[in-house]
Amino acid sequence: MIQKAKGTYDVFGEYGKRLLYVEELIEGLMEKYNYEYFRTPIFESSNLFHRGVGETTDIVTKETYDFKDRGDRDLTLRPEGTASIVRSFIENKMYGNHTIPVKAWYYGPMFRYERPQSGRFREFYQFGVEVFGSEDPLADAEVISIPVNLYKLLGLKGIKVNINTLGDSESREMYRNALIKYFEPYINDLCEDCKERFNKNPLRILDCKVDTNKDIMKNAPKTIDYLNENSKRHFEMVKKYLDSMHIEYSVNTNLVRGLDYYTHTVFEVEASVEGFGSQNVLCGGGRYDNLVETLDGPKTNGVGFAMGVERLMTALDYENVSMPLINGIDCYIIPMSENEKDYAAHLCMELRLNGFITDIDYNNRNLKNNFKMADRLNSKFVIIIGEEEKNTNIITIKNNETKEEYKIKDEDLIDFLDENIGE
Ligand code: ATP
Ligand code: MG
Repeated sequence: MIQKAKGTYDVFGEYGKRLLYVEELIEGLMEKYNYEYFRTPIFESSNLFHRGVGETTDIVTKETYDFKDRGDRDLTLRPEGTASIVRSFIENKMYGNHTIPVKAWYYGPMFRYERPQSGRFREFYQFGVEVFGSEDPLADAEVISIPVNLYKLLGLKGIKVNINTLGDSESREMYRNALIKYFEPYINDLCEDCKERFNKNPLRILDCKVDTNKDIMKNAPKTIDYLNENSKRHFEMVKKYLDSMHIEYSVNTNLVRGLDYYTHTVFEVEASVEGFGSQNVLCGGGRYDNLVETLDGPKTNGVGFAMGVERLMTALDYENVSMPLINGIDCYIIPMSENEKDYAAHLCMELRLNGFITDIDYNNRNLKNNFKMADRLNSKFVIIIGEEEKNTNIITIKNNETKEEYKIKDEDLIDFLDENIGE
């Protein structure tokens, strides 16, 4: 038997229903925020991610699915969404739009060759947004508000928003130097990856999962102490706007995030429920004022986040969050024999096209089994089509709950159901 590839999963049943509900909620929320839907290809030139995500990130050094196509091109299955959206923004010259800022949202699968464990897959879905062309701290606050409001709409309670700032390029440089000075004497106490990070991107040491609880980490210099006036003001304004939107947050001075391109604000939302597990970061993001330039576009501010959808689903299950899912169907149609199937199929289509959830017996079950089927499908009405019904166009419809039976002309069926099936 062929099994699914390691680190992947199938969607069906109740999970599928819950997932669709969440996806619809995301779509509706993005409409209210007036964001534009983007869909970019699943694979792109490998260069895009190497330059966009950064040569020293775990994602690029260890986790990408790289391949050559039959034309000998180097391609990569996208490990994240931001680099692709930036490419699209540049390639389609959106920086010239009159509608700057461009506010993009996306939803789709991402691929990373990671060690699969709970909350960590090799194919997983992200919902994310990117805002291009505004340096206003209000944009940062608005971006942070999106996951918070999505969780609120869903009824997810145990969440915690952590924010920090890396400052602008100047502040980040000063901070970087301070970190190098600080970590130099301890270099041999750090894990192998951190030794590498020390040379290439010392900020990333703070993001290490191995060394995270060591005192050297806890006592490391804080970005907050290296901010210039501009960076301080930006961070103060972000906090002020969050306050005015009634969004609770904590400042976590060790939060740096894994990607190279961040400036100013960085944030994460974690599931803060005891026992949730170690993969508890539901979403992360921040400002990246240098990324568009890095990918050969004109200097353009950017801010965004990406949310792991599987972890969100787990959190919803964990809190037993209920959803108003459709449970059952409106009509189940039973043709008494082969002879009535054509007429039954016609009625079935009519009902569906008029908005009623309708199913039909495809398997020539006997009447008793068909009624069992109607119960299993939790159908409100059962329509029985025999020879007489087909000839007279007067059909028998039974309320499956009250067991009341009605005879009505088929042309009146839609009106009948409209009256009898309340919202
Ligand atoms: P982590 O620290 O958990 O590895 P990350 O920093 O790699 O996360 P991002 O690249 O910022 O994560 O992705 C944003 C979100 O996508 C994460 O917060 C998480 O919810 C989700 N995510 C990342 N990697 C995976 C994965 N392999 N499987 C499922 N969800 C993931
Ligand atoms: Mg990761």
